[in-house]
Amino acid sequence: MARYTGPVCRLCRAEQKKLMLKGDRCKSDKCAINKKRPAPGKDPKARAGKRSDYGVQLREKQKLKRIYGMQEKQFSLFFERALRMTGITGENLFVLLERRLDNVVYRLRFASSRSQARQVVLHGHITVNGKRVNVPSYLVKAEDEIGIGETSKGLVIVKDALKEFGKAGVMPWLQLDPDAMKGKFLASPRRSDITDLADIKEQMIVELYSK
Ligand code: SF4
Repeated sequence: MARYTGPVCRLCRAEQKKLMLKGDRCKSDKCAINKKRPAPGKDPKARAGKRSDYGVQLREKQKLKRIYGMQEKQFSLFFERALRMTGITGENLFVLLERRLDNVVYRLRFASSRSQARQVVLHGHITVNGKRVNVPSYLVKAEDEIGIGETSKGLVIVKDALKEFGKAGVMPWLQLDPDAMKGKFLASPRRSDITDLADIKEQMIVELYSK
């Protein structure tokens, strides 16, 4: 399936939630959600909040998939992997999503959005334990060191992102050395640690895939 290349703010408007897909614009007054722009299309049931159970579950899945910038096939493969792991499937899914290299690069403030992080990884600017890795879906593990490659340390987008977003610090399962442009994935987060996505109801996604 082709990657979505349309206007990304439309995706947020469809969910009526800030999915934080555009970096610094998401925190500005220009954000379509801040401006309270309505959902696109003509789905009166959705607007009136009368979706079926299936519709609600589907929207929850779409939200999470879009936040992490994934395509359907890849997202369902992640879900299958989460299902095979011991523990609670919804929580396992979050852990796997958080371990994606593009996500870790975003969380370490090396990029202002997950889509920008994906580009930074794809273009070979990232190292894991000193070795270049250019696969956005690469799964980082505990104690891995993630850094900007020596020849990429002058990249303006990385410097700008670190300057702008680094002020906010990093999530508790990460460690960042902004001067050295490197960080560490200390351990997989618990679901309760992922506070910025606390409103996502992963159980609905599990129910959707269980049908
Ligand atoms: Fe979503 Fe960011 Fe666009 Fe706001 S600016 S609608 S949060 S992508």
